[in-house]
Amino acid sequence: MNRSPLSDLDIARAADLWPVQRVAEAAGIAVEALEPYGHYAAKVDPQQVQGAARAKVVVVTAVTPTPLGEGKTTTAVGLAQGLAQLGQQAVLTLRQPSLGPTFGVKGGAAGGGYSQVVPMETLNLHLTGDFHAVTSAHNLLAAMTDNHIFHGNALNIDPQTVTWRRVMDMNDRSLRSVVTGLGAPQDGIPRQTGFDITAASEVMVILSLCTSLQDLRQRLGRLVVGFTYAGDPVTAEALGAAGAMTVLLKEAVKPNLMQTLEHTPALIHAGPFGNIATGNSSVVADLLAARLGDYLITEAGFGADMGAERFFNVKCRISGLRPDAAVLVVTVRALKTHSGRYKVTPGKPLPPAMLAENPDDVRAGADNLRKHIQIVQSFGVTPVVAVNVFPGDFPSEHAVIHEVAQAAGARVALATHVTQGGQGALELAQSVIDACKEPGDFRFTYPSEWSLVQKLEAVAQQVYGAGSIELSSAARRDLKRFEALGYGHFPVVIAKTHLSLTSDPQQRGAPTDWTLPVREVRAAVGAGYIYAICGDMRTMPGLSASPAAERIDIDENGEIVGLF
Ligand code: ADP
Ligand code: MG
Repeated sequence: MNRSPLSDLDIARAADLWPVQRVAEAAGIAVEALEPYGHYAAKVDPQQVQGAARAKVVVVTAVTPTPLGEGKTTTAVGLAQGLAQLGQQAVLTLRQPSLGPTFGVKGGAAGGGYSQVVPMETLNLHLTGDFHAVTSAHNLLAAMTDNHIFHGNALNIDPQTVTWRRVMDMNDRSLRSVVTGLGAPQDGIPRQTGFDITAASEVMVILSLCTSLQDLRQRLGRLVVGFTYAGDPVTAEALGAAGAMTVLLKEAVKPNLMQTLEHTPALIHAGPFGNIATGNSSVVADLLAARLGDYLITEAGFGADMGAERFFNVKCRISGLRPDAAVLVVTVRALKTHSGRYKVTPGKPLPPAMLAENPDDVRAGADNLRKHIQIVQSFGVTPVVAVNVFPGDFPSEHAVIHEVAQAAGARVALATHVTQGGQGALELAQSVIDACKEPGDFRFTYPSEWSLVQKLEAVAQQVYGAGSIELSSAARRDLKRFEALGYGHFPVVIAKTHLSLTSDPQQRGAPTDWTLPVREVRAAVGAGYIYAICGDMRTMPGLSASPAAERIDIDENGEIVGLF
C-alpha cells in the first residue's frame, strides 16, 4: 500500500538495521541470555535476565475494527518508537504472524510505513521456527492418541469423543474435515477428524500463557484429547506425550528479539488466534519486557471487547502484571463504518462517499468509541485514545473524535507514526506517560470463584453491553459437567465475531439490550480457560480466489517481492 513516496517494502529495505547483539545491548540483555538466529533475530533466555518487573504496562487495543484493521500494530510500534525518542526505555511485545494470512490475504503483520518491525521477511516467514515446533508438538499428541487406540486402547478412549485434531500453518479449507485411518487394518482405526491452522492449536495458547518451561510442561500434561467410555477426561500426561511435547517446545518457549525501524527492542512471541483463543502474545515475553523496560507496550488482537478483555481477564490473571494504561486506536474510517452508512469489504477500495469530508458520519458512529472507552475504564485502566491518522482524513473529522473522547474522560492524541515514525507519535507517547502516572485501580470483570455461567454473563453484560445471555441446553449441560470435572475456577473466553460488539457481524455502533446466544462450550484445560462459541468460528481459514501467494516471488537479485 503506497501512503508516502516510498512503499512499506521500500522503507523496510532501506532500514538501517542494527545487528541483534547491538539491539540486545541497548535493551540491557546480557550476552549470555542471547541466542542469535542469523544477524537480526535472536532468542532470549528469560532465565538469564536478572531483575524485577518494573515497567509500566500499556496495552494497545482498538474500537471495533473494519475488516481492514485500524492500525494497532502500527500504533504499538510507533508508540514504542515515540517513547524511545522521549528518552524512555520501551520494549514491545507482539504476536508472531501466521503463514496462513501471509500467503492468503495481503497482510500487514509487521506494522506499516515508518512504524514497522524489521526485517519483515524474517518476521513473516518462519522467524526462529516456533510455529513449526508448535505444529510438531500438537501433531505428536494426535499421532500418540491414534496410536494408543490402535494398540489395544488401554485407557478405554472412546474414539467418538476425541476432539484433538491435527494442525498446519497454512490456509487450506480442504483439510477442515478428513477421515484418518483408511486403508488396511494395520493402517489404523478409521476416525473422522480434521485440521486447524496452527494459530488455533491449544498448544499455541499454552505457549502464550505459560510462565516458564516447567509451567509449560504442567499445562501440556493437563491437555485433554477426549474422554473414556466412562466419561473421564484423557490427558496428554496419561498418554505419555507431555514430556516429548515439552522437549519439542524447549526453544520455542524463549521469546524472539527483533527491532523496529528506530531500533526499539521488540519481543515477538507466540501467535494464538483471536477468536477461539486469547489473541495475545506471550506471558513469558511480557514478564521479560517488564524487567527490561520502563514501558512494556503490547498489542491485544481485535477490539477492546476481544483481545484487551482477554489480556485483562486471562493473561494478566496469569502473569500477575497490572496494566497502567490502554491505548485505544480509532480511525475515521472505523467510526464512519459504525454510522451504519457504509460497508467496507476486504480487497476492495473504500466506498468513494466515505472518503469525502463528513464529520457527521464520524459523530454518527461515535457510540462505538464511547463504549470502548467505557470497557477500558470498567477494568480500572486509564484509556488514551490514539487517532491513527490516514492520508485523506480531515481535521474536522479528527475534531469530532477529540470532542467525544474528552467528554468520555479519556486523553486523546493524534498519531502520524505511519508517515513520520516515532516523531509522529510524540504526542501519543506523552499522553501515555501522563496516563501511567494516574493511580491504578485495576480489577478483573469477575473473580475466579464465580460460576462459569456468572462469568459468561459478566463479560457479556459488563464488557459487551448485552442485556442477557441465552445458553443452549448442550452448553448448559457442559458447563455443569466442566464444573464437576474441576474446571469451574477457569476464566472464560467468548468466541464471537470481532466485527461487532455483538455476536452478529452486521451490527454496528454499540447496541444495547441484545442477547448473546451461546451455542456450545468447550474446555481448553491445558491453556486453562473455558470458551463459549457464539456464532460461526473458523479454525481453518481458506484461501481467496486470488491469494497473496500468487504475487510473492524471488526477483533476479534473489530478493523477496510481493510480501506486502
Ligand atoms: P491491526 O494491528 O489493528 O490489525 P495494522 O497496524 O496491522 O492493524 O494495520 C492494518 C492495515 O492498515 C495495515 O495494512 C497497515 O499498513 C495499514 N495502516 C495502519 N495505519 C495506517 C495509517 N495511519 N495510514 C495508512 N495505512 C495504515
Ligand atoms: Mg495487529
